This record gives sequence, structure tokens and C-alpha cells, in this order.
Amino acid sequence: MNFHLDDAQKALVALADRLGREEFAPKAARWDRDHEYPHENVETLRRAGLLGMTIPKKFGGPERPLIDAVLAIEQIAKYCGVTARIVVETNMGALGCVMAYGTEAQQREIARRVLDDGDKPAIGMTEPGAGTDLTALKTNAAECDGSYIVNGTKHWITGGGISRTNLIFARIVDRDGNDQGIGGILVDKGTPGFSFGRVEDAMGLRGIPETELIFTDCEVPAANIVVRDPKDGFKKLMNGYNAQRTGASAVALGIAQGAHDLAVEYMSRREAFGRKLKDFQGLGWMTAGSEMKLEAARLLVYRAACNARHLANNVMLPHMKEASIAKAFTAHEAFHVVSDALQMFGAAGYSRDLPLERMLRDVRMFQIGGGTTQAQLNMIARGVFAAR
Ligand SMILES: Cc1cc2nc3c(=O)[nH]c(=O)nc-3n(C[C@H](O)[C@H](O)[C@H](O)COP(=O)(O)OP(=O)(O)OC[C@H]3O[C@@H](n4cnc5c(N)ncnc54)[C@H](O)[C@@H]3O)c2cc1C
Repeated sequence: MNFHLDDAQKALVALADRLGREEFAPKAARWDRDHEYPHENVETLRRAGLLGMTIPKKFGGPERPLIDAVLAIEQIAKYCGVTARIVVETNMGALGCVMAYGTEAQQREIARRVLDDGDKPAIGMTEPGAGTDLTALKTNAAECDGSYIVNGTKHWITGGGISRTNLIFARIVDRDGNDQGIGGILVDKGTPGFSFGRVEDAMGLRGIPETELIFTDCEVPAANIVVRDPKDGFKKLMNGYNAQRTGASAVALGIAQGAHDLAVEYMSRREAFGRKLKDFQGLGWMTAGSEMKLEAARLLVYRAACNARHLANNVMLPHMKEASIAKAFTAHEAFHVVSDALQMFGAAGYSRDLPLERMLRDVRMFQIGGGTTQAQLNMIARGVFAAR
């Protein structure tokens, strides 16, 4: 396996790095402080062709491989985790599920919204009573005269209230009241019966709202069903989510790389006891440890993206075990890399004047959101035993 980048990928990395450094870094503290969604960054990303990179050519997208999206996400995350997450959700997540399993009309419409309008589709799985144990979800979509009536509550939904497109995981109930298992249905913002509740006062990544979605007898056209498959519906939705996990890993990796770069630069100029910090062997070993963690995480994230297979509809989706290994390892190590980078700055690292404390709060999320580390470990173990 080799990860040599071709010329187009090198140009993409350079573009994402430049946008991150020049456009996104100077404003990153603002989204965090003001709890504000970075609409202007979305437009910059859209114009630069970084939204919908994975969308097939037949829907107007550039149809780039998943690894290209991962490369761009990693670069942007060095400077602004919130903006990098928007690149994840406009290339993976709900978009990936619809591209893999939706109808052609749904695919065409979601592609148009992402590419032309910069819509960031939201994915609504988690409920107050169903987090890791998603199969306990209670939101249901009951078939009735050519439509579905959705009832239930989701919470911690990234971009809830901002996103026009919302892919909702729900228990599908047929006309006769029979449970058809967990499926996916698209609900547009503005649909009567669809409202927004509490916005979480989150620890980090505060530029994107984490919102409660409330469905009260919300009538949705039958044409909005993305997945309805009593046997494999949940499995399909989870397959689609493996791409999102790989993207989330790339954000964690990028945040950690950004913090590490800042620390290396600072250690080369800060002096104590008449020496540069970099000349203390103990600090050099901390730096070497971070470098190893980053390199190992990068290999796992790139592997998950490069090994993505055409599972459905010509859409590349990563393998469950590889995506989970990348996510569990990267989220854990990235947190420690950022914490060690902050340590190099002493008191200054603990101040809001520098981005380190924000990066530490931001990177902590990846051990929880997108499936907790424990959930990833369960899936890895399942993969290990299934292979025997
Ligand atoms: C910033 C952020 C953004 C998010 N965005 C979204 C989103 O866009 N869409 C969405 O649907 N959800 C989203 N989530 C929700 C997220 O997916 C859930 O928080 C996560 O799946 C865990 O669910 P829970 O919080 O209910 O914890 P619980 O499931 O209650 O778990 C509590 C603890 O128990 C552990 N645990 C539970 N079951 C097991 C087990 N079987 N074995 C071992 N340990 C276990 C967990 O690892 C955790 O440590 C987001 C969360 C955050 C923090």
C-alpha cells in the first residue's frame, strides 16, 4: 500500500492548507466565542470546490475519491475544527447515505443543495433514550396514504436548525401497523410539525449548533424514504456512517497536527535555563511521542479512506472495522497530542489568547461524537471474532 499523492492531490492539500491558514485560522476563535455558524467559510469552501467533492459527475460533482476529501479535511482542521467538520458533513454523513442508498431524485436534489447552496446535511440518529444503543430509538415514521407521519425527538444533532436537509433514523411502521425495522427518511427544515428545541452549551466545536429536533405528526412525502429494508436497513445506514467516521478521524488528526506544529515552532524559540525548549531531552521525547502518534493515526485514517469499496450505487464506503480502528485510535491519541502541545506553552497555553485550549476542547469531542470510543472498540472486537 502506498500513500504517494498525485499532482492533483498535492494541489488540493496546498489549497486546503492555504485557505485554512489565511482565511479560517484568523476567525476560528470568533465562532467558538460567539457560538456562531461560519456561513462565510461555507461560501469560501463552496467556491473552492471543497463541498460535495465526493458527489458523482452525473449529479454535477467532481467525483473525487474519499481520500481526497480526507486530505482536505485534515489540512483545514489544523486551523479550524468547526470548518473542517462542515467539510465532513458535506462530503460524507447524510450525503454518503443518500448517494449510496437513496433514489436518483433524492441524490440529484441533495447534490444540488450541497454544491449550489452550501447546505450541510444533518444526520439525526441519537435520541435522549438511544445513544450508543441506537436500536432503542423510538422516533417512528408511520406510512399513511402516500406519506409518512414522523413522531419523536432527536438530540445533539450537528447543525440542527442550520441544515435544510435532515436524514432521520426512524422506526418505519407500515400501513398495517407492522414494524419494518430502522430506516432513514429525509425531512426538510420548514416542514410543518418539525421544530427545534434545546441547543446544547457544548464544551467545544461551538461554531456548529448541537440541537434537539422535534417531530410532532410531521407529514413527509413517501418519496423521502431513503432506506426501508426490514432486514438490512440499519446495517445499510451504519455502512453509510463509516465514511463519516473516517472524516471525523481526519478532523481529530488535523487538529492534533495543528497543535503539534505550533508547539514545535514555539519550542524552537522559547528559552529556559539558557537553552531552547527543544534542547531539553525530555521535551524532545514528548515531541517524538506526538510525532509517532500522528504518523500512526495518519496511516490508519488514510487506509480506511483508500480501502473504501463500492458498496452500493457506485459509492465508496469504508470498511467498518478499519473505520472504527481509525476513529478509536486517532480520537484517543489526538487528545494526548494536543494536551502535550499545550503543555509546551506553559501558562500561555492555558489562555484564550492562544488556540491551544480551544483545540483541546474541540478534539475531546471525537472520543464521543460519531460513536464513542467504547462503541468503536465493540465494533472492532465484533470484526475480529467475525473473521474467525
Ligand atoms: C459534539 C457532538 C456532536 C454530535 N452530533 C451528532 C449528530 O450529528 N447526529 C447524531 O445522531 N448524534 C450526534 N451526537 C451524539 C453522539 O453520537 C452520541 O452522544 C454517542 O453516540 C453516545 O451516545 P450517548 O451520549 O447517549 O451516550 P450513552 O450511549 O449513554 O453512553 C454513555 C457511556 O457508556 C458507554 N457505553 C454505552 N454502551 C456501551 C457498551 N455496550 N459497551 C461499552 N461502553 C458503553 C459509552 O461509551 C459512554 O461512555 C453528537 C454528540 C456530540 C458530543
